[in-house]
Amino acid sequence: MAEKCELCKEEIKTTFLDKLDGTLIKTGEGETSKKHFICSSCQKEHKETLKEKL
Ligand SMILES: [Zn+2]
Repeated sequence: MAEKCELCKEEIKTTFLDKLDGTLIKTGEGETSKKHFICSSCQKEHKETLKEKL
């Protein structure tokens, strides 16, 4: 199952252990909460401002 980065729309690669080479960020609370997949390069690039961009 391939996930796409929400910022650059690139497919997120998985490591040999089937772990995503990126991060999963949750925004919102309860029923309105959302999961966002972000690749490792976008994670490095945006760091603290990441949540504001989602
Ligand atoms: Zn990305």
